[in-house]
Amino acid sequence: MSEFKVRDNELSELEVQTLIRAAIAARDKAYAPYSAFKVGAALLCSDGRVFSGCNVENAAYGAGICAERGAAMQAVAAGAQEFTAIAVAGWKDTNAERDRGLAYPCGICRQFLNEFSDGRMSVYVARSVTDYEKNDLSSLLLHGFGPRNLDL
Ligand SMILES: [Zn+2]
Repeated sequence: MSEFKVRDNELSELEVQTLIRAAIAARDKAYAPYSAFKVGAALLCSDGRVFSGCNVENAAYGAGICAERGAAMQAVAAGAQEFTAIAVAGWKDTNAERDRGLAYPCGICRQFLNEFSDGRMSVYVARSVTDYEKNDLSSLLLHGFGPRNLDL
């Protein structure tokens, strides 16, 4: 039973905090020996399930992958293809909470998420469980290219 009641992509404050908490927990699993910049993501799907991911770096730097795409891969592999919201938490362990920036999804991840939301998902970028910014993906990826462009 999911603890999320998905309705019109609006989450309660408690649900947002639960999603951010899951992103922070995923961040703890990040493999970032090169940058030390650990990122976690928690992706809420329309069926109420949450999938998490963390950044995984690689000695061949370009082979690394972001937390957001890691979470999206988990979701799709489990049969969830309609994304509702994602929480992202990224900072170095040495950053005190007041020194943390906001780790917005990179361009590739914005495009990747758009495939399964048509821009209609919420993106919560957090410094902590209670300190975050909310955006719609469509505002982060203006005029995004998606399945509809291919008449799918
Ligand atoms: Zn990314």
